[in-house]
Amino acid sequence: MINVTRSYLGNKAKFLGYVDSIYATGWLTNHGPLVTELEERLRDYLGVRNIILTNNGTLALQIAYRALNLTGSAITTPFSFVATTSSLQWEGIRPIFADIDKATWNLDPKAIEARIEADTQAIVATHVFGNACDVETIAQVAQQHRLKVIYDGAHAFSVRYKNHSVFNWGDISTLSFHATKLFHTIEGGAIVTDDDALAARIRLLCNFGIVDTDIIDGIGINAKLNEFAAAMGLCILDDMALILEQREEIASRYEHQLGDHFDLQLQQADSQRNHSYFPIALTDETQLLRCRAALMDKGINPRRYFYPSLDTLSYVQPQIPQPESRALSRRVLCLPIYPGLPRHVQNTVIETLLKDSSHRSQPQAERIWPQVTAGWLVEDRANLSAPMCKRIY
Ligand SMILES: *Cc1c(COP(=O)(O)O)cnc(C)c1O
Repeated sequence: MINVTRSYLGNKAKFLGYVDSIYATGWLTNHGPLVTELEERLRDYLGVRNIILTNNGTLALQIAYRALNLTGSAITTPFSFVATTSSLQWEGIRPIFADIDKATWNLDPKAIEARIEADTQAIVATHVFGNACDVETIAQVAQQHRLKVIYDGAHAFSVRYKNHSVFNWGDISTLSFHATKLFHTIEGGAIVTDDDALAARIRLLCNFGIVDTDIIDGIGINAKLNEFAAAMGLCILDDMALILEQREEIASRYEHQLGDHFDLQLQQADSQRNHSYFPIALTDETQLLRCRAALMDKGINPRRYFYPSLDTLSYVQPQIPQPESRALSRRVLCLPIYPGLPRHVQNTVIETLLKDSSHRSQPQAERIWPQVTAGWLVEDRANLSAPMCKRIY
């Protein structure tokens, strides 16, 4: 079966070299040398001020809310992985949904204000499929209403906005390094903030509140990453350029072939993508189910990310229904994309989808593509059969 992704495994000999070093020191966890090295390298690679590694991305979210002392309610997106919502509920913070932008599929900053209640303290937004949120407008709304901003950056590793890491926006960004993610440590995650005092507090929260052998400062939990996981991360970080290049190549082929036949996610202007996913929106759920069945017949397993819309979850009711998110979640399918995806498999995916869409006689309305974005050039459309973004560095 060809799945929507395949966990990237770096060089095995290199990984075993790190394992040898772990056996030599006997240091398996609790802020070992490999975790320290990975933190330093990620800080430089991403270009962020503070990064604290955690043992998964869900706990990273929970600790982010704790570090900011959040209570009451938070405005969040209904179109994300369930952990964005469940982490809030788990921490006793009531999620209030605001709808998504129908083009970028991210939380619509214009929808936030109407949802703010007396006890609302924060905005929790996801850079969905690695598409940067409208961070500037969200920052304005947050400032006006004195709300904290937390970005669930689980899909956004390497993503840049105006040539800086998108993780530099908001009070805190969280990452997931789960095995299915673009960059991974088998299980793992991270918390990013440019506030040094907040970073120190986060480190305490991740380690039971233990300051020193004899001093415990407040409640904490265990969110530590282990050395074997860090070793995997160090190996994969070496290969990031190759991983991003291969994903971009696959994504641009999909874009070329499918862009005129299916709705694609509109990229946030001034941003760079990482192609952690390749989602398409079909005409409706009927076409989606038909295409999925046709692909499954050929041994290809696309995934319905994200379905259902999170405003329908039983444990967050009552909620005001969010129509854009509900409609989109019924028609989005993520196609296989990962380094090493065989070309013939991608061709099969494309052919199967085009065959189904061929009954559509009218081409879709002209799509608006971003003009020039940092480091990217949108080629002259007249010269192309389909729009395409090309890296110019
Ligand atoms: C994967 C993911 C998470 C959860 O991360 P884990 O490391 O699996 O706990 C949270 N939010 C989003 C958007 C994700 O895709």
